[in-house]
Amino acid sequence: MATITEKPAESHAVERIGWLRAAVLGANDGIVSTASLVVGVAAAATGKHEVMVAGVAGLVAGAMSMAAGEYVSVSSQADTEAADLAKERRELAELPEFELQELTSIYRDRGLSDDLAHQVAVALTAHDALGAHARDELGLAEMHRARPIQAAFTSAMTFSVGAAMPLIAALLLPLPQIPLGVSLAALCFLMLLGAVGSAAGGAPVAKGVLRVAFWGVLAMIATYLIGRMFGTSVG
Ligand SMILES: [Zn+2]
Repeated sequence: MATITEKPAESHAVERIGWLRAAVLGANDGIVSTASLVVGVAAAATGKHEVMVAGVAGLVAGAMSMAAGEYVSVSSQADTEAADLAKERRELAELPEFELQELTSIYRDRGLSDDLAHQVAVALTAHDALGAHARDELGLAEMHRARPIQAAFTSAMTFSVGAAMPLIAALLLPLPQIPLGVSLAALCFLMLLGAVGSAAGGAPVAKGVLRVAFWGVLAMIATYLIGRMFGTSVG
């Protein structure tokens, strides 16, 4: 039997899932909400200044709310994880025999024989009891631990980058061409984001591209129609 001396370097997409989800969500939200805002205001506006002011305000407000939303939601996840771990630590101290049986039955259910399940449970308990229960009983893998600040920062940054792209397109276009020009630019950015996000996650690219493009187009058409409605009623 070949002996493996050193673990060959390998990485799995699932390791990136935490920040990838926040990044794609942030960038997608940045592109769609800012492009829609710019398209909607441009459909009703008489001057380019209003469009740019609305766009920049949308970028700042969106980045702040994404950061706050991610921080609050991931923090409550972190609180739940910490509470579960504290409960587990207490149970390990108060009921070590019961906890060992619990771990043994988890490994038995995964297909190990009684003896082997017990041996593994005893060895892992001796090595790192809380780690074994956290991973195998609570399903808390180290790579998925809640990191509120990382999530908030990633979301705010990617939202801002996503929002900046339609804003730059609006800056470069004359007012009458902003609704169509920014919509097309945003659609290209969304398709690129869909492709990058799917590729980074090891998922089928075409499906990812179509998914973000569909929702993006829907959002921009809706805000454009509302902008037109307001434009004609105000004008
Ligand atoms: Zn336990």
